[in-house]
Amino acid sequence: MSEVKVLDKGEKFSHASVGPLHGFEGKQFLKDATEATSCEISFGTLPSGASVPFFHSHKENEENYIILTGKGKFQINDEVFDVAEGSVIRVATNCDRNIKCTSAEPMTYICIQAKEGSIGGYTMTDAEINERENLL
Ligand code: ZN
Repeated sequence: MSEVKVLDKGEKFSHASVGPLHGFEGKQFLKDATEATSCEISFGTLPSGASVPFFHSHKENEENYIILTGKGKFQINDEVFDVAEGSVIRVATNCDRNIKCTSAEPMTYICIQAKEGSIGGYTMTDAEINERENLL
């Protein structure tokens, strides 16, 4: 099982890492490490031929799965479809979901869980361009 490490922390940020994704194992939740208040982010990986050992649903939170490596199948209730590196899958509340790796290489993915319907202003509606010295 890979571990989460908090690498940097300031008044307005927290930087955590699960390390290199090549070789990442298991499932790791990041909310506690980053102290996120709007969503739960987790990294997960499935070896070739494996699926999550259970179906689950959420009452209030939708989930967005982002496939980083590998290929597989995704099941939502009785519907099944193919997913692969680059896929983004939104799963609404109150439905069962599972994911299976069908590629020879492991499937690595990120899951972002957030309260369904909670996003208001976003991107350019919420963002402001600010003048600041670039220290990078
Ligand atoms: Zn979930």
